[in-house]
Amino acid sequence: MSMLELHEVSKTYGDGAAEVRALDGVSLSVGEGSMVAVMGPSGSGKSTLLTIAGTLEQPTSGQVTVGGQELRGMSRNDKARLRRRTIGYVFQDFNLLPGLTAAENVALPLELDGLRAGRARAAGLRALEQMGLANRASAYPDQLSGGERQRVAIARAIVGERRLLLADEPSGALDSANAEAVLHLMRDACKDGGMAAVVVTHDAQLATWADRTVFLRDGHMTDQRVAESGTGVRPRYGPGSDASSASGEAPAGGEAAVLSTAPSGSDAGENR
Ligand code: ADP
Repeated sequence: MSMLELHEVSKTYGDGAAEVRALDGVSLSVGEGSMVAVMGPSGSGKSTLLTIAGTLEQPTSGQVTVGGQELRGMSRNDKARLRRRTIGYVFQDFNLLPGLTAAENVALPLELDGLRAGRARAAGLRALEQMGLANRASAYPDQLSGGERQRVAIARAIVGERRLLLADEPSGALDSANAEAVLHLMRDACKDGGMAAVVVTHDAQLATWADRTVFLRDGHMTDQRVAESGTGVRPRYGPGSDASSASGEAPAGGEAAVLSTAPSGSDAGENR
């Protein structure tokens, strides 16, 4: 089943001479257990696509469906519930609350949704465990490495019954070993939990973790590449890297195999 469906979605900001078409007739379908990478130059509409998929903005035209529910016509309360229960967000700069432990940070969305503290904590610990961080549950964010913090942020985004994971440059603040680990873990979380994920990245190598890469340019989707089966050889995490404890080595091949070339329009080096 398609968890996220965008049909001919356009988004225009401003009007008259100041009009900007951030998205122009974009269609995208992301199924359960599938991870799609979004690449494109700065200003091409990547963040707009994520905010619309995350119900944080409304498209000017077109249709958006999350988990089979069409967003148009949905009340603000229903959208808020969808965000609380169904959608997980991961940002480049982690956004963990410094006064809460890793476990408390991860359990927080469930507590805010009214789940009892004990059950929220148990679900939070399970999500941390999935990220290979069960032994860091009591640590505060400033006691964690950058890679660990991002893994806590991913645990918070997949905790509970979330179905759609949206990530904006989730590895942008990490070194390459941790960046690989983060993408790898997100992909495993998708496969294991049947979530759909949309990940914005400027790094073509990291995009190889996705099942599919789409490219945006001036609000248009210019290309869609499906990863070929069985062609990929991914780097392995070195001993001693904080990524090495995440979940072992990279899978060889599989449906999310290496894309051979970076898109000419990719904004490598951009670090938003
Ligand atoms: P990207 O994430 O690829 O850098 P964005 O989605 O942030 O691109 O932006 C796409 C275009 O829409 C850019 O030209 C940007 O300036 C414009 N834009 C984005 N958000 C707003 C906004 N709130 N108001 C006006 N223009 C915006």
